[in-house]
Amino acid sequence: MKPVVIVGGGVMGSALAYWLTRLDPARPVTVIERDPSYSRASSTLSAASIRQQFSSAVNIRIAQASIVFLRAVADELELDGDRPDLALRESGYLYLADPGGAARLREAHVLQRNCGADVTLLDRTALERRFGWLNAADLGLGSLGLSGEGWFDGHALLMAFARKARRQGVRYLTAEVCGIGVDQERVTEVILNDGSKIGCSHVVNSAGPWARQLAAMTDMHLPVFARRRTVYVISCKARLPNFPLLIDPTGFWIRPEGSTFIAGCAPSVEADDEPLEPDYAAFETFLWPALAHRIPAFEEARLERAWAGYFEMNDFDHNALLGPHPKIFNFLFMNGFSGHGMQQAPVVGRALAEFILEGRYITLDLSELSVARLAQNRPLRESMVIG
Ligand SMILES: Cc1cc2nc3c(=O)[nH]c(=O)nc-3n(C[C@H](O)[C@H](O)[C@H](O)COP(=O)(O)OP(=O)(O)OC[C@H]3O[C@@H](n4cnc5c(N)ncnc54)[C@H](O)[C@@H]3O)c2cc1C
Repeated sequence: MKPVVIVGGGVMGSALAYWLTRLDPARPVTVIERDPSYSRASSTLSAASIRQQFSSAVNIRIAQASIVFLRAVADELELDGDRPDLALRESGYLYLADPGGAARLREAHVLQRNCGADVTLLDRTALERRFGWLNAADLGLGSLGLSGEGWFDGHALLMAFARKARRQGVRYLTAEVCGIGVDQERVTEVILNDGSKIGCSHVVNSAGPWARQLAAMTDMHLPVFARRRTVYVISCKARLPNFPLLIDPTGFWIRPEGSTFIAGCAPSVEADDEPLEPDYAAFETFLWPALAHRIPAFEEARLERAWAGYFEMNDFDHNALLGPHPKIFNFLFMNGFSGHGMQQAPVVGRALAEFILEGRYITLDLSELSVARLAQNRPLRESMVIG
């Protein structure tokens, strides 16, 4: 049997490889990864946080299944007695809205509650009572996740998937895919940078921020772009109890990370494929003043260091693009997660494995996220995209 070839061994590719061989131990699977150190991969540069608070039901359902997986990860991905510890902290997300944005937060809240998410709305007084360190004077509303939201060690999740996948027989190959051979609407092989070819039953695009370039090898335009995001590591001496992942109406986010905090914001101007150098100027001109306004204790904060990674941004509708190519049915996609892919990997990996093995989604129907919506011009817009 020819292998399923997965291009890109980040958290998506490795989650898929794990699920394929867990559900069908006899299935040959090869992961082709050009950089086994993952130095520029989104999966190692991620803020690795998980939330239930989305504006599309399908994303809420994915998050609900993902948190169940993350809580059980030590059993699920245990290997020879070594139980992965993702240091999962369920400290919640706090979405803040100014008076003008409160209606949108309420609307999303109704959908989230209907889907069974454990979220609550807090008015200004309730915000002030619960978070004494918060300046709520100009706020209209807050939405807080009471369980099922927080953060974890994303790199440890990637490593745990990859390690277990290898044990289940997956072959990881260090190489770059430079071409895709197609014969009569079927992918037959991938072509590597040394000129060698690997025959395959399926090819999966899990190339993260570089997915567009891989899709272009079959003349397909995939609207996924590498957009730089800086993560700032900040120290603050004040005690700020019950600190969740906070999202400000101005667009910045911040959460605790060990004894420090990490924070980020969208750049004022979007550009593709910028070098992965942190944007220090944005900290001075925007982030620090905005932080100090919302949390006065941050006037005394110190920027310790920063790093940058790429969001794999789907410009069409900011949602995942999953499943088969519209014409080449054995070329599949798991791309365009637009900054929420880490938390979706355990569930999307399983769903796509089911699709490859059984020809349909079984545990969770993700057909709404199909790539076919591009050609049909049928966006499934996710409005709660962070930073
Ligand atoms: C700063 C930042 C913060 C984030 N915060 C969160 C968050 O809080 N919560 C959340 O859920 N998500 C978050 N994300 C998004 C999340 O990290 C990504 O959605 C996820 O890691 C994508 O995984 P991936 O495997 O698709 O891509 P990647 O991890 O980028 O892996 C793709 C791999 O493909 C390889 N590759 C590409 N092209 C080829 C080729 N032609 N041949 C061989 N190999 C190739 C690359 O080397 C790379 O290793 C964040 C991302 C960033 C950058």
